[in-house]
Amino acid sequence: MSVGDALLAGADFLAALLLLVGLKAMSHPRTARRGILAAGVGMLLALLANLLLDALGRGSLRLVFLAFAALLLGGGLSAALSRRVPMTAMPQMVALFNGLGGAAAALLVFGRVLAGGSPAPLALALAVFAAPVGSASFGGSLVAVAKLQDWRLPAGRLPAHRTLTALLIAVSFALFALALLARAPELRAAAGGFALAVGFLAGVALTVPIGGADMPVVIAFYNGLTGLAVGFDGVLLHSPAMVVAGVVVGASGTMLTQLMARAMNRSLAAVLFRGFGPPAAASGPAEREPLATDPADAAIVLAYAREVVIVPGYGMAVAQAQHKLQDLARLLEKRGVRVLFAIHPVAGRMPGHMNVLLAEAGVPYDRLLDLEEANAALAVAGAVLVVGANDVVNPDARNNPASPLYGMPVLEVTRAPRVLVIKRGRGRGFSGVENPLFTAENVRLVYGDAADVLGRILGALREL
Ligand code: NDP
Repeated sequence: MSVGDALLAGADFLAALLLLVGLKAMSHPRTARRGILAAGVGMLLALLANLLLDALGRGSLRLVFLAFAALLLGGGLSAALSRRVPMTAMPQMVALFNGLGGAAAALLVFGRVLAGGSPAPLALALAVFAAPVGSASFGGSLVAVAKLQDWRLPAGRLPAHRTLTALLIAVSFALFALALLARAPELRAAAGGFALAVGFLAGVALTVPIGGADMPVVIAFYNGLTGLAVGFDGVLLHSPAMVVAGVVVGASGTMLTQLMARAMNRSLAAVLFRGFGPPAAASGPAEREPLATDPADAAIVLAYAREVVIVPGYGMAVAQAQHKLQDLARLLEKRGVRVLFAIHPVAGRMPGHMNVLLAEAGVPYDRLLDLEEANAALAVAGAVLVVGANDVVNPDARNNPASPLYGMPVLEVTRAPRVLVIKRGRGRGFSGVENPLFTAENVRLVYGDAADVLGRILGALREL
């Protein structure tokens, strides 16, 4: 083994170790930052070692320059984007980066195909999988980004949609196999290029009919697929760091898909192939007007309850109202009111969104209840304060089989005698369906931006 090979193997091993240690640390909010840093250092080490040692090994200054330029350009762009993107748009960014990972995995194999040669049978089989799947993940992730950005795409499906999608996937695999086996360079390039394009279309076709509320499952699904494609690339290119990174991402993406699907009480097959019913199937416009109240009355309801459960949602994140919410909890606790926070697993726009924001505001972890604990607490709470949540408290998910949300476990806020909901107006939730909660008898709406309304409730409480 040459010195270069030994250095590369050592760097790959260290990078893999850092990725695993980082992933473990990411499993708790307290250590998550450290985990992300460790995994990032691992990734940088793997990139530097593989790109630079390879370029140096070939003795090509041009390659060294290109490797550095690629690192600076990619790293710089993603750092700039990450700094600018608001917390509420994080899922789009994750989906975009994940899609780009899929595209990179596909292009790597394509590059190998263009270079010619005859890979071993196992590598051949893995390549046939990796390239179309990587480009399908790219196409599907771009559609997910568009949906999360609220660029309303048509949610309908073509006739024989499933068959068409399955056909696109099969054609993409077949074309890529042809590209790998062909001898003529022109045929390799054409078949490989078409395979990637058809794979991309398959990802788009698979994702377009899936409704917005199922996007968390879809993002996790493509995350898992990109991971697998990268892992298979690693086998093809003999890169242990890529194999470990790919397998780790593939496995965690697959587990996250299962967890998210379970949280929404859907099977992955139902999410991917049943799509999302038209909004017309949900509750129609409310038969009566929602009843409103003002911040001063809301303060009285909260101050005289023995236990208050707060349900934060996407609107709290938009308003960045987490600090005001923590101030409210402290003030109520000073008055002897017990305050708990009910966290729905898909509240907000990314897994753990509410946990991250509330942790940032200093809400102790032991005040956060998961879905099951929260529903038990809601049954005995004196009052509930819903802050910018909608889909995760929609009773149609339990009671209306015609609703697209039907089957998703929700926070049953009307178990409590008094429910206050802070929202700005008649805005619907991410799924775009009506929510009959707002016209229920024991519910009062406090209209306004969450941070603004909470500020006024705080003011009124201080004067009580
Ligand atoms: P929703 O998106 O269902 O509802 C948010 C509500 O907040 C809206 O009704 C809106 O009403 C209100 N709102 C918006 N801005 C403000 C503001 N500044 N002040 C006060 N209220 C505001 O949120 P949920 O958290 O209930 O549900 C999350 C949804 O997102 C689910 O459908 C989930 O599937 C989906 N999703 C979740 C992801 C995840 O991983 N967590 C990822 C992608 C999607 P109004 O306009 O009237 O103010």
